[in-house]
Amino acid sequence: MSFIEVRNLQKSFGPLEVLKDISFDVQKNDVMAIIGPSGSGKSTMLRSLIQLEQVGGGSIRVDGDYLVKDGIYTNPADSKTINSKMGMVFQQFNLFPHLTVKQNLELAPKLVKKEKAGDYGHRSIELLEKVGLASKADELPSRLSGGQKQRVAIARALMMDPDILLFDEPTSALDPQLTKEVLQVMRNLAEEHMTMIVVTHEMEFASNVANHVIFMDDGMIVESGTPDEVIKSPKEIRTKRFLNYEL
Ligand code: ADP
Ligand code: MG
Repeated sequence: MSFIEVRNLQKSFGPLEVLKDISFDVQKNDVMAIIGPSGSGKSTMLRSLIQLEQVGGGSIRVDGDYLVKDGIYTNPADSKTINSKMGMVFQQFNLFPHLTVKQNLELAPKLVKKEKAGDYGHRSIELLEKVGLASKADELPSRLSGGQKQRVAIARALMMDPDILLFDEPTSALDPQLTKEVLQVMRNLAEEHMTMIVVTHEMEFASNVANHVIFMDDGMIVESGTPDEVIKSPKEIRTKRFLNYEL
């Protein structure tokens, strides 16, 4: 069974249909890249998976459990379990400005999981080492570069030990040098077989790291397949146009 199974997902904001009929599967250890123009519904789709948006129809199933089945949301206990399996990293980092880096990492384990300091204290240092920022543990986010902030945000998402990480344009706010260091951390996670869905404009990352690519346009999946299929030799005219291929 797929780890995530999305079927016929629909979502509107008032009269605006933002997700029209979205279906896809994510397997454990997949790195799925979602590409597509601004306004095509990529963020809304990701946000729906972690219940930041409520959908109007279709089904979302995670690890066998339904979050939404034919447009009807499941019970809160199941949806809480489902949410705990997913971590998200946003374009704008969303760190708590008044907390140190280490405190940012430890807040959710402390409040949500009610873990003891002895447990999360080790893990936060380990994860900061993993993203190369152990020396910044006691700094406030305002003292970090954008790339460092995003690496903290990734470490923070990993603190809850998610089964899948969702990234919404994690490098779009960064200049090329800082983008590189964030992509390197994501590449390392992929090599460790972390399951990920990544909305990105970084075609090189999508080509080299993802095993599956989805091209979205106007609330629909226009084309999906391997990076070779979708990025190297797209079939659909809209994909070609988006990728700036000669038509
Ligand atoms: P993408 O991430 O691909 O740029 P979004 O999912 O952010 O696309 O947006 C898809 C469409 O939905 C856009 O037309 C956007 O303006 C609209 N939209 C997104 N969020 C809201 C909202 N909270 N209220 C109304 N319209 C929204
Ligand atoms: Mg977006």
